[in-house]
Amino acid sequence: MSIQIQNISKSFGNFQALDDINFDIQTGELIALLGPSGSGKTSLLRIIAGLEKANQGAILFGKEDITHISTKERKVGFVFQHYALFRHMTVFENVAYGLKVRPRKTRPSKNEIKEKVMELLNLVKLESFADRYPSHLSGGQRQRVALARALAVEPKVLLLDEPFGALDAKVRKDLRRWLRKLHDDYEITSIFVTHDQEEALDVADRVVVMNEGKIEQIGTPEEVYENPNSPFVYHFLGNVNLFKGRLHGGKLRQGDFVVDAPEFLGTENTEAVGYVRPHDISIERKRSVDSVSAKINYIHLVGAAVQLELIRRDNDEYLEVELTKEQYRNLKLKTGEEVFVKPKQLKVFIPEDYSI
Ligand code: ATP
Repeated sequence: MSIQIQNISKSFGNFQALDDINFDIQTGELIALLGPSGSGKTSLLRIIAGLEKANQGAILFGKEDITHISTKERKVGFVFQHYALFRHMTVFENVAYGLKVRPRKTRPSKNEIKEKVMELLNLVKLESFADRYPSHLSGGQRQRVALARALAVEPKVLLLDEPFGALDAKVRKDLRRWLRKLHDDYEITSIFVTHDQEEALDVADRVVVMNEGKIEQIGTPEEVYENPNSPFVYHFLGNVNLFKGRLHGGKLRQGDFVVDAPEFLGTENTEAVGYVRPHDISIERKRSVDSVSAKINYIHLVGAAVQLELIRRDNDEYLEVELTKEQYRNLKLKTGEEVFVKPKQLKVFIPEDYSI
């Protein structure tokens, strides 16, 4: 089921929680709504679910305008952070619930329900827990029951609001990978809300980055991480180094440091900031015009890559650089050494453009 979100705005009193949101979701896509607290993610999800009414705009499922139809008729499945499983029901009964309460005409037989529930419990690896009560499950297991329960009614769209938010880091990681697999097996259009950038970048087909009720950027995880279109997205999606300077003749200059900024040719004598991800910086032994001198303050060797913290000689600002183990070995770097740091890929923004 494809989804179109058209010009959705929502206010609570004088406060505008969503401001003219527009985007399309393809059938079978897994979309992450990512943003800081209060950016409007949950409000948007609740509007898609029909739990909240927008002040303006429309939601289409396929070609059908469902803006004014009830949640029940939208055939959406939900999983929330603190999913209220029925405590007096076993795992089996919880998953079966949505099928049992169907109108008689569409209700499956007892055997069909049993078959379906066991198939879903198998999928979430909880077959042997069918007779347990929720109070005897771990948080991760409860969320798996919640997912099986949401899928039981064969929703056209699956909506998840911080589904793993209350779980510890290791369980979160396992569950999100597993959600991805489940999503791929079922090919169900899914939207999940998260404020955790790692989670969004890890599992989503596309990430919708939200800020103050607006969409900052939509793209694949690679696009939004590698090519942010605003300082906000740079900061929100990972570590970033700032090279502050002045624009002049299509170049960003600061003291002896000069880099090309051809998109700003004609913008003269204006303060600007170059944004660079830690892995887009190289370390050199020799000075060049587009490098700055820095002292290695700390080397963190644990993990797949080597993280370095450096302090610039000219302004005492900290820089974070990420090297592969091979690059690190070749350079033979040591703490306290002086090196030259050169941005390989830098994107320039003019400060008035952002607030962070
Ligand atoms: P979080 O990650 O903290 O859940 P969010 O990005 O999901 O944040 P929303 O829950 O959509 O954000 O809230 C967006 C803004 O709208 C917030 O400032 C919130 O206080 C406000 N808001 C949400 N629901 C209501 C409501 N029922 N009445 C008044 N204000 C609301």
